[in-house]
Amino acid sequence: MAATAEVTLFDKIVAGDIPCTKVYEDDEALAFRDIAPAAPTHVVVVPKNRAGLTHLHKMSKEHRALVGHLMFVASEVARQEGLADDGYRIVINDGAAAGQTVFHLHIHVIGGRSLTWPPG
Ligand code: AMP
Repeated sequence: MAATAEVTLFDKIVAGDIPCTKVYEDDEALAFRDIAPAAPTHVVVVPKNRAGLTHLHKMSKEHRALVGHLMFVASEVARQEGLADDGYRIVINDGAAAGQTVFHLHIHVIGGRSLTWPPG
């Protein structure tokens, strides 16, 4: 998928054209289980309207409330999934070299096992 694609895979999930296992939804964000989980719990948090945010580095001041809200949702998901006590990781892959494959800003919430550092 091109980095500038108008309609992303996550747009299609938000629209209901591709199914997902939803764990959280509000007016601005959707969170669903990753199809290829990297850990026992792996949830992806996406903005319903990515507002030009193919990548984190596209962020401008106008996006602060949206990105802040996504962080809130990530923390809410962690609590809901029972990850908060043991610890968990949030990840934003920004660009192909970081492993980004879907060019629609998203936060991974990963937990349920011990996670090594540094990441690969
Ligand atoms: P990234 O590599 O950071 O761009 O993350 C994209 C994530 O989307 C990967 O972890 C994929 O496994 C996940 N993914 C791809 N297709 C789907 C899908 N249909 N439903 C849920 N997660 C998906």
